[in-house]
Amino acid sequence: MPQPVILSDIGNVLVTFDFTTAAQRCAEKSPFKAEQFFHRLDGIKMPYENGDMNDETFVREAIEALEFQGSAAEFEQIWCDIFTENPAMERTLAQWSGKLPMHLLSNTNGLHKDYLLSNFGIFNHFDDGVYSYSAKCSKPEVEIFIQTIEKFSLNPALTFYIDDLPANIVTADRLGFQTHLYDFKNHEALEMALKRWMGL
Ligand SMILES: [Mg+2]
Repeated sequence: MPQPVILSDIGNVLVTFDFTTAAQRCAEKSPFKAEQFFHRLDGIKMPYENGDMNDETFVREAIEALEFQGSAAEFEQIWCDIFTENPAMERTLAQWSGKLPMHLLSNTNGLHKDYLLSNFGIFNHFDDGVYSYSAKCSKPEVEIFIQTIEKFSLNPALTFYIDDLPANIVTADRLGFQTHLYDFKNHEALEMALKRWMGL
C-alpha cells in the first residue's frame, strides 16, 4: 500500500531567514551601502538558484559586483549566516520522524543547501530533497514538482505538501497534492491540518 509522505519547503517554513545582517556585513567591506546589496546581485542571484551558475562562479561574480574587500570564504560565511531554525516546526516534525518519509522541495542554491543541512538539526528528519539549483528549474513551475514526484515515487494524493508561498501551493494543488499554506505566526493551523490528514 502506498505510504503517506511529508514534503516541505525550507525558507519561512523550517527556517526563517533575514538578509539584513548579511547586507550590513558586506557593506562594511564594500563601497556600496547595505540597501544596495540585492540590487548589486540582481543579475546573478536567480541564475545561481536556477543552476545556471556554480558556487565558485557565483561567489566570484558577487565579490566583483559588490567590490567586496574580503576573501571568498568570508563572503560565503556572510552569505550563509542568515538562517534561524523554526522551533515550532522542529517539535511538530519530531512527532512524525521515523514514522513516515519526509522530503524537501526548495528553491535554493548550493551554498545555502549545504550550510542548512550541516548546521540545523531539523534537517535530520528528512531523507532527501529536490533543490532548484540542481533540478535546473524552480517553483512555482510544474516541472520541479514533476521531478519531485518521479524522484521519490510520490502519490500526490498521499503527499502532504507544506509551503509559505501561495503561488507554490497553487501548482501543488493542481497536481493533486494535499497542501498547507504555512504561516509561522499560526503554527497551530499546521498542527491541526497534519493531525486531520493523519486521521487523528
Ligand atoms: Mg518558502
